[in-house]
Amino acid sequence: MRLSREGTPLLGIAGWGADEREGRGPLSAGSEKLASQVARKIEDQIIDRRWPVGEVLGSETELLEQFGVSRSVLREAIRLLEHLGVARMRSGPGGGLVVCAPSASSSSRALVIYLQYIGISTDDLLQARVLLEPLAARLAAGAVTEEGIDALREIVRKEQAQELGQEWVGGPNAVEDDLHVALGRMSGNAVLQLFIEVVALLTARNVRSEDYPEMAVLAPAQSAATTRHAEIADAVITGDTAAAEIRLSRHLDEVRAWMLSSPDRRRSGRMRTRPTDPTPDTSVGRKLAEVIAGRIHNDITGDGWQIGEVFGSEPDLLARYGVSRAVLRESIRILEHHSVARMRRGAGGGLVVLAPDPSASIRAIALYLDFEEMSPVHLHVVRESIELGCVQAATGAAAQDPEAAARLRASLGSGTGAGAASNFHTELAAVADNPVLALFLRIIMELWARHCRTKDLSTIAADAEVRQAHGNILEAVLAGDDGLAQHRMRRHLQELAVRWD
Ligand SMILES: [Zn+2]
Ligand SMILES: [Zn+2]
Repeated sequence: MRLSREGTPLLGIAGWGADEREGRGPLSAGSEKLASQVARKIEDQIIDRRWPVGEVLGSETELLEQFGVSRSVLREAIRLLEHLGVARMRSGPGGGLVVCAPSASSSSRALVIYLQYIGISTDDLLQARVLLEPLAARLAAGAVTEEGIDALREIVRKEQAQELGQEWVGGPNAVEDDLHVALGRMSGNAVLQLFIEVVALLTARNVRSEDYPEMAVLAPAQSAATTRHAEIADAVITGDTAAAEIRLSRHLDEVRAWMLSSPDRRRSGRMRTRPTDPTPDTSVGRKLAEVIAGRIHNDITGDGWQIGEVFGSEPDLLARYGVSRAVLRESIRILEHHSVARMRRGAGGGLVVLAPDPSASIRAIALYLDFEEMSPVHLHVVRESIELGCVQAATGAAAQDPEAAARLRASLGSGTGAGAASNFHTELAAVADNPVLALFLRIIMELWARHCRTKDLSTIAADAEVRQAHGNILEAVLAGDDGLAQHRMRRHLQELAVRWD
């Protein structure tokens, strides 16, 4: 799938006065918007040229001329691109803005930051894992290569050696070495791979938190996991798709039982995943500003700061984090990019806590998946799994909660605009009340909409058949008939896939 340029807002550069061009120090809101538009234009150039990785798009001087903006606006745009992992400024002779290959890890990290911020429970995470990981195991078993067999055997051998307390020469553990992440990668489905990496990172952070301090409790669970991992790997290697799917699904049931086995590990309500020490992230070579941004972010979430509160003035923050003004400002740009906090100038100003907004992460992911040439079939498979999970959860919730039932009914009659087609689906995810699934569905809908941009979405939304299908799904949901509701959703999504692709 390649993103098209359609729908990209055109720049209104002519209106910018001389004061903007000479601007120094923090950018005004208008300049930030302009920088974001310039970044988007450069993204479109890269997409149109089919990601010429390593190619120089132009020197700073050339880009200043091309876009007719001030140096500070251009530099802000480049910072955004660097943060999205799309391009990087290289200095020296032959330097300039170089096209990069966006990485899955920068996209998934952004999602992890957002989900940690809004707060998720162990159950939310496991529900998402049960929907995604057995599917990945099945696909991996169907597509396994000799290279993949070597990789799986290496992971299993390493786990077994560690359990026996042997020194493993293969290097320290990384998320990439995790069997679950490896299966995501081997599924050959870029969307699935990315989502699984996100849930793996979140699980690792959850387990590392102070809820699980006693290694004595961890050891038997890890030992059981090592055995299960070997069995799952066997099924994948022999290409037994059904066994791979079932074994992974059973393994997750055990993980769930283990996680909920002790009363203090059980979490009744939704809690924030505890922000962890930012040191693990330094190991992957993050710049100091990103580390400081992570630390500020952890302090904001961990200490329960409310939206709109002033977390601290610039001098406060300089003293507290012990970094230079340049590093602090760069950190604040990262926080602003994720809509975690924003610097407000003037009297009573300072770093203001914001409502988190995942749009920047969603954009990063759309770009990454475009680079990976994700196919509509991949998107459909993941969408189906997530939506069926949402239907199942919503069926339980709507039966008990008249308010949820009313919300769902209201989403059916919400008119004929382009949004109406997705309203019913996003409302189901909201009633299912799992922020992980809701975010994944939002990403899928965004990709879906970009993919279908050339066709007229609003006619599909107004389509009587689509509205009828939504009504039928809802009828089954409200009757508490989970099986029928899932069947109708599956048929509806198949119908959409046939029409749109
Ligand atoms: Zn496992
Ligand atoms: Zn629909």
